Amino acid sequence: MMSSPDFATLGVAPAILQALQELGYEQPSPIQAQSIPLLARGSNLLGTAQTGTGKTAAFALPLLSRLRDDQQTPQILVLTPTRELAIQVAEAFKSYARYLPGFNVLPIYGGQDMRTQLRALRRGVQVVVGTPGRILDHLGRRSLVLDELQAIVLDEADEMLRMGFIDDVQEILAATPAECQRALFSATMPAAIRQIATEYLGNPQEVRIAAKTTTVERTEQRYLLVHDSHKLDALTRILEVEPFDAMIIFVRTKSSTMELATKLEARGFAAEALNGDLSQELRERTVERLRRGELDILVATDVAARGLDIERISHVFNYDIPYDTEAYVHRIGRTGRAGREGKAILFVAPKEHRLLKAIERATRQPLTAMELPSSKEISDQRIRQFRKRLTDTLCAEDLSGIRELLENLADQEELNMADVAAALAFQLQKEQPLFPVFEEPAAFRKSSPERRPRSAQDDSASPVAMVCYQLAVGRRHNVMPKDIVGAIANEAAIDSRHIGRINLYDDHSTVELPKDLPKEALRHLQSIRIRQHPIQARLISTPAGGGKPTTPRRSGGERRRKSAA
Ligand code: AMP
Repeated sequence: MMSSPDFATLGVAPAILQALQELGYEQPSPIQAQSIPLLARGSNLLGTAQTGTGKTAAFALPLLSRLRDDQQTPQILVLTPTRELAIQVAEAFKSYARYLPGFNVLPIYGGQDMRTQLRALRRGVQVVVGTPGRILDHLGRRSLVLDELQAIVLDEADEMLRMGFIDDVQEILAATPAECQRALFSATMPAAIRQIATEYLGNPQEVRIAAKTTTVERTEQRYLLVHDSHKLDALTRILEVEPFDAMIIFVRTKSSTMELATKLEARGFAAEALNGDLSQELRERTVERLRRGELDILVATDVAARGLDIERISHVFNYDIPYDTEAYVHRIGRTGRAGREGKAILFVAPKEHRLLKAIERATRQPLTAMELPSSKEISDQRIRQFRKRLTDTLCAEDLSGIRELLENLADQEELNMADVAAALAFQLQKEQPLFPVFEEPAAFRKSSPERRPRSAQDDSASPVAMVCYQLAVGRRHNVMPKDIVGAIANEAAIDSRHIGRINLYDDHSTVELPKDLPKEALRHLQSIRIRQHPIQARLISTPAGGGKPTTPRRSGGERRRKSAA
C-alpha cells in the first residue's frame, strides 16, 4: 500500500486528532485521504464510496474541524436512508467530537417519540443526522431550522433513491442556505443522483476509489458472511478446524490488534499484536518470533504488516474488511510466498456486500462462500486431537506406576476400567468439550437461492431465511412497493436489503422479511402506518394469493414524480 499522509496533515483539528488517537485510527483510509482536505477547505464534494471504506469519517472529520463553537443552532445536517445508519453516523460524530466542549449531535428518525426529538432540538444541537421523512416533518413544524446550516451531507444517496426518498431529499436541499457546503456520497452514481449533484452541488470536487484489477495467483480465497458481534466466535471456530501454519489476521485499528490478540491468547492460541504503536525493535522481534514458529498468529493493522515476507504464513485472515481492493490485494500478498499456495479468508458483514463485489471484480476471481464449521465438525476435530494425545502419551510415557494405581483402585472399588477411563476423559475435556453445542446465529445460516431477498442480483451476500407477512394496505390505499420498503426500513430498522419480494393486491399486500427479526423490530412493525393506514402486519406462512399480484418495480432509476415545484 502506498503510504498516505496523516490526519493532521490533511487538516483535522487537534481536538479531533486526540479522539482519533484514542480510537486507534492509525492512518487515513484512501477515501479519507482524498476527501478530508477538500471538505476542510469548504469545497462541495461528490464521492463514490461504499460502506466499509471509512466514508463516515471522511466527511465527519473535516466538517467537525470547521465547527463553530459559538453557534448552538444546527450547523451540520446528514441525511441517511435508514434509522440504523442515522444512529451509526451520529455515534461516529459523537466519538470523533468527544473533546469538543459542549458538543451535541442528534439522530432523528421515524418511529421515535416526537416529543423527545422536539425537546432535544429545543435544547440546541450542532449536528443533526436523520432520515428524510422525519427531517421534513420537523422542517414543516419549524422545530428544525436550517437558516444557519454550514454543511449538508447526503449519505448513501443511491439507497435514498431506491427507497423513494429522493423528492424529500430535494425538498430538504432546497431548504438549505445557498452558501451551505454540500457533499454527496453514494456507492453507485445512477442518473438521478448525478442530476441532484448537478442541480445542488454546483461544480463539485469528485473523489472515488479507483478499483485496479490485479491477478491474485496461488491464493485460495473464501469469505464468510457474519455480523460484527459474531466475528470472534466465528474466528475461533474456524481456527479450530482450519489447518494452518502461520497466520496474519488483519483488523482496522491499533486497539483491535491488542484486543483480539489478547482474546486469542486466552483461548490458547500463540497470538501477538503488531501495530504502529510498538517500537520498531519490538515489531521486528515479534515478526522474528513468527518466522521461527514461536508464534502462530499476528494480529496486525495494514500499516504494521506492510512488506512482511514470511514463508510460513499459510493464511491471511481479513477479520475487518479492507477499505479498498488495493489494500485487499496487498494483504493477501502476505501469503502464498515462495511458490507455496496461500489461503485467504474474509469476513463480510451483510452491509459490506458491495466491497466484496468490488474485491471480486478487482481480483478477477470470485471468492467462495464458506460455511461456519458446525458443532459436529468441531467435535470430530477435537476427538481426532484427543485420540492423538492419547496415543502419543501411550507411546511416549512410562505409565506403569499410574497404571498400577488405577488397577488397584478399580479392584478395590469394583470398577470397570472403561468407566475409569471415561471419568478421566470427562475431566480432561471440560474446558474444550468433545461434544460442543454451538448456537447458530441467524447470520451464519445460508439461505437457499429461491428464498433470497429481492435484491439478490446485486446481493449474493444475503444470508437470511425469509418469511411472509400480510399487510392491511394495498392498491386501494394508493400504496406503492417503495412506500412499504421505506416505511419498514425506517420504522422497524430493517435494512432495505433484507426486505424481500413485495406483492400488491387490491386491499392488502404481502412482503417477505427475515425470519429471525429482533423483538424490537417486530414491535415497531406492528405500529407502522402507511398513508395513514395501520399496516397490521400479520405473519403468514406462504406468500398469499388473492388476485393477480403486481410485480414491484423497484429499480434504482425509479423516481417519484416531482410535486409541482
Ligand atoms: P464506514 O465506511 O464509514 O462505515 O467505516 C467503517 C469502519 O471503519 C468503522 O467502524 C470505522 O470506525 C472504521 N474506520 C474508519 N476510518 C478508519 C481509520 N482511518 N482507521 C481505522 N478504522 C477506521
